[in-house]
Amino acid sequence: MDLQKIRADFPILSREVYGKPLVYFDNGATTQKPRQVVDAITDEYYSVNANVHRGVHFLSQQATELHEASRETVRKFIHAGSTNEIIFTRGTTESINLFVSSFGEEFMQEGDEVILSVMEHHSNIVPWQLLAAKRGIAIKVIPMNDRGELLLDEYKQLFSERTKIVSVAHVSNVLGTVNPVKEMIRYAHGQGVPVLVDGAQSIPHMPVDVQDLDADFYVFSGHKVYGPTGVGVLYGKEEWLDKMPPYQGGGEMIQHVSFERTTFNELPFKFEAGTPDYIGTTGLAKALDYVSAIGMEKIAAHEHELTTYAMTRLKEIPGMRIFGEAEEKGSVISFLVGDIHHFDMGTLLDRLGIAVRTGHHCAQPLMQRLGIEGTVRASFGLYNTKEEIDVLVAGIERVSRMF
Ligand code: PMP
Repeated sequence: MDLQKIRADFPILSREVYGKPLVYFDNGATTQKPRQVVDAITDEYYSVNANVHRGVHFLSQQATELHEASRETVRKFIHAGSTNEIIFTRGTTESINLFVSSFGEEFMQEGDEVILSVMEHHSNIVPWQLLAAKRGIAIKVIPMNDRGELLLDEYKQLFSERTKIVSVAHVSNVLGTVNPVKEMIRYAHGQGVPVLVDGAQSIPHMPVDVQDLDADFYVFSGHKVYGPTGVGVLYGKEEWLDKMPPYQGGGEMIQHVSFERTTFNELPFKFEAGTPDYIGTTGLAKALDYVSAIGMEKIAAHEHELTTYAMTRLKEIPGMRIFGEAEEKGSVISFLVGDIHHFDMGTLLDRLGIAVRTGHHCAQPLMQRLGIEGTVRASFGLYNTKEEIDVLVAGIERVSRMF
């Protein structure tokens, strides 16, 4: 990977913060955008913009073609079988809410169960709790060991005849653990239970093949994979999506409306009420083209090297406590140093130009499991370098000395 060339595609990476070169290690929260993505968005607004699907005029048709071509780009990127299985949403959170609402309504009754893991993001917990309050479903939780690996034997014990769905993160946004979702899916299918994979933290970092995983549903956000904010995806197997009711009502998702009776559009439009973010989908497709051109395998290898290097260097710091040391670990490192509050560490690192995230990372149940309030989290992207990790290590050492 030509890092110099890649970094030049991301103008923000050459800016300074408090007079220091920016070191951007908050990629788990959102990634920066290459020129190619921003240019595609600007170009479409300037030269194509028109509402999609309903227009006979030239611009509307061109905008529709771009929008549907983006769906095909997403399909190819995750190796889905059909564009009917690619639902555009606002992001991971909306994808999960759509899923829980629609799947829950059709397939879950009082006393039915969902299996989640202890390391889920709030967006894969709270929608289930809302459903639990409405429908009386029960939530079961897969525990983990102290390295941050899910306990698969315990996972298997959680299944009962009331289990209707497993919903689990592919990669933890706090621990970096890459969960063995393929194996988990195989087991769940053996029990006749479908699985949703939260891919928010896997899509930017590794090749994803939903058919190889045999995931029934897979969700992600565009903004975490170098695309724009406000657009994301729910992948679902057609056989499931066909049976699920619409999530929102409005334009686009209907075939025919009368006050007596309304019929719904076919997939994927049944789940896409209203004007979609057709400019956002173009940006997302450009982002996926961008990472594909580099190669997801190469990105994964580069980030693995960065993570291994960072783990070694960080462990040299006195008082360093790292949360998440799974055998299979992505490019997310959560830590605390001595009794320095994560917020103080983050604030002082910021003054050195280093952007990290602090707090509970929308995973409070996981914080409870770890017996802490929050961590400092450094998360790497394709454009990060070993030199930047050296800056982080020097920064942490400097902050530590101040305490
Ligand atoms: N799941 C995971 C594992 C995440 O890391 C995030 C974002 N931090 C989300 C879900 C939610 O994504 P979004 O805010 O883009 O909807």
